[in-house]
Amino acid sequence: MAQNGDPWSDTPTARCGKHPVRSEEIQRRGTYVNAQGQFVKYDYNETLYDSDGFCAVESCAFRMYNGRWKCHVCGGGPNTEGRCERKVVENGKSRTCNHQCCHTCRAWW
Ligand SMILES: [Zn+2]
Ligand SMILES: [Zn+2]
Ligand SMILES: [Zn+2]
Repeated sequence: MAQNGDPWSDTPTARCGKHPVRSEEIQRRGTYVNAQGQFVKYDYNETLYDSDGFCAVESCAFRMYNGRWKCHVCGGGPNTEGRCERKVVENGKSRTCNHQCCHTCRAWW
């Protein structure tokens, strides 16, 4: 949740909630060379996420799991957002797990 002071906080975040698309990435993905050899700008929003709302980071766990995953911390699932929304009971108190999808988590099949 430590989003305060994040230099990328004005950058939209992908569905995983973890990877704002950084400026290099926008630049890298934001242009392509057309058949005439010219650099053409992509629409920003088109390159920021794919049609399913996944981020541009290829190694993103949330993206790799296709947006359905099993939390490795609480074992709950399926989760369909970047953070685990399962309720866990800790010291008799219920709270939201809130674990962010990582590579130790598993895809939910
Ligand atoms: Zn991501
Ligand atoms: Zn969890
Ligand atoms: Zn995990």
